[in-house]
Amino acid sequence: MIEEHDHEYRSGIGTDIHRFAEGRKLMLGGVLIEHPFGLAGHSDGDVALHAVIDALLGAACMGDIGTIFPDSDEQYKDADSKGLLLDIKERLEEERWVIVNVDLTIQAEQPRLENIKPQIKRCIASLLGIDFTAMNVKAKTNEGLGEVGQGQAIAATEIALLKRKYKRTL
Ligand SMILES: [Zn+2]
Repeated sequence: MIEEHDHEYRSGIGTDIHRFAEGRKLMLGGVLIEHPFGLAGHSDGDVALHAVIDALLGAACMGDIGTIFPDSDEQYKDADSKGLLLDIKERLEEERWVIVNVDLTIQAEQPRLENIKPQIKRCIASLLGIDFTAMNVKAKTNEGLGEVGQGQAIAATEIALLKRKYKRTL
C-alpha cells in the first residue's frame, strides 16, 4: 500500500562532448571563461549544461536534448544553454519532479578548472534552484589521451536523482 508521504525516485545520466573552435566564447556550466577558444555547437556549446540537461531528461524519462531542442531549428542557433536548462526545469516542475542532487564531471585538458569549479557549482545550483549541498562539480584531465587529452575537446558526464510524491490512486 502506498502511503501519502512515499516518493518515487529516478536517476538519469547525461554525457556530452564538444570540440574547440576559433572565434567562439568558452561557456562552461553557464560561466563565461577566459580562453583563446570556445566550443563548437549549434547552441553556445556549453557541454556541461548539455550533460546536466540530458541527465535530468533521462531521470524524468522525457527523451533527450537533441529531440527537444533540435539543431536543425534556427531558434536554437547560438542559444544560451542556461535558457535551455531553465526550460527543462519548468518541464520537470510540471511533472512534479524535485531534484534531489546532481553530480557533474567535466573532462578538460585546458583550461584548468580547479579555480572555476565553485563558480560553475554556484551557477548551476542557482539555475536549478537547489541547495549548494545538492550540487557537486568535479574536474579532471584525460591524462593526455584521446581528443580531450589532446586539447581538442571538452567532455562532461552528469548524473541526477529526482523524486516526486506518488499520486494517490483511489
Ligand atoms: Zn552539447
